[in-house]
Amino acid sequence: MFHVKKSNSSNAKNGRLERESLFTGGNALQKCNVCNNQFQWKELLFSIWRSYKPIECSQCGKKHTINFASKFFVSFLIIVPAVVFGLLIAPDQGLSKPVTFGVIVGLAFMVSLILPLFVKYEYKN
Ligand SMILES: [Zn+2]
Repeated sequence: MFHVKKSNSSNAKNGRLERESLFTGGNALQKCNVCNNQFQWKELLFSIWRSYKPIECSQCGKKHTINFASKFFVSFLIIVPAVVFGLLIAPDQGLSKPVTFGVIVGLAFMVSLILPLFVKYEYKN
């Protein structure tokens, strides 16, 4: 019993640390690595929607690409709620397939709206 409890709490701590390291310098939204220009929430969101299209800084024009951890994090945040809903909640509630699909698309859309807060982009020479 004790062992299980202990490993759970240390896992939670690791998860929190990883999430904090995704933030950039205490500010939630990503800034340009070169000129420190603040990227717009909209720019980050559109980049994610266009399957992680690189972002060009509006000030200095340098291209920034999303890092691997953020890509993984984005897929995770979208796939997990979709799978949980599609396989557990929808069958339990007796929802039809089109309704289930519609809710999953809605969920993915809503999750994507907060993703710009978590993703990290890097400028590579
Ligand atoms: Zn810049």
